Amino acid sequence: MAELEISEPYSPLETFSLPEWEPFGLKVELKREDLSHPFISGNKWRKLKYPLIEASKLGKTKLLTFGGPWSNHILATAAAGAKYGFKTTGIIRGEPITNPVLNLAQLFGMKLHFCSREAYKNKEQLASQYLSENDYLIPEGGDCLAGEKGAGEVLQQLPNNIHLCCSVGTGSTFSGLLKAAVNQQRTIHFHGFAVLKGADYLLPRFESANHTDFSFHTDSHFGGYAKTNPELLNFIAQVASQTGVLVDQVYEGKMLLRLHKLITEGYFKPGTHIVILHNGGLSGLLGLSNS
Ligand SMILES: *Cc1c(COP(=O)(O)O)cnc(C)c1O
Repeated sequence: MAELEISEPYSPLETFSLPEWEPFGLKVELKREDLSHPFISGNKWRKLKYPLIEASKLGKTKLLTFGGPWSNHILATAAAGAKYGFKTTGIIRGEPITNPVLNLAQLFGMKLHFCSREAYKNKEQLASQYLSENDYLIPEGGDCLAGEKGAGEVLQQLPNNIHLCCSVGTGSTFSGLLKAAVNQQRTIHFHGFAVLKGADYLLPRFESANHTDFSFHTDSHFGGYAKTNPELLNFIAQVASQTGVLVDQVYEGKMLLRLHKLITEGYFKPGTHIVILHNGGLSGLLGLSNS
């Protein structure tokens, strides 16, 4: 069987600015990873690339993965499975519910199994319960070495001597970027923006990548994972109306608001070239009325 071919996604680098940034003399660009696909967007596309290739090499016909009921990874796996010819199963944390994200995942043919929060903690047990011979297992959030490898590939499309901003959930995208920077001998300063409270536990993982040129901003969670406040929601509306770019309230909106504060506090020297990775996840906006 020919190796599964997954071509490079559409992802232009665009000039990006807010009126408040103008006095600071920066060059800011947005890497539009959100435009790669409506539902396999951003880092989810990149993190799925090598697991899908691996699954196909092993002759697997199904993908099995885990996620919360609003998980971008669940939806991306459902859509990618449908696109590249895999059946998909999603094990969903919590009581059975419907929401727009799960409805879309089912539309792409994903079978859903709900399990209690308690049972969800034991992924090995769940995997042994649901994994069949034809299933390829993808960890929650695509958080695995193959995922990191794909996530790091975006660097090949970016120049040196930039400050590269990326939101951080599981940390696999950021870790993949740092590792790719070492492999490609790049001079890039990375900024990770945590969307979870108490994300310091991720530091050893980032340090072990051996690219020491990074800052990890742990004060960008705005109350905790998936929590919002009026300031964040107003900022997202400002960005959308002033630039035409949508960002979600769970990941990219938080990164952008924290970056906005750094910029307007004069954190960056004039002339600094900043590139912001837009890692998609716009389906999160479908849950806005629920947050
Ligand atoms: C999943 C996701 C992230 C977090 O990526 P990790 O690799 O888990 O750190 C950031 N932004 C968006 C839009 C996502 O969907």
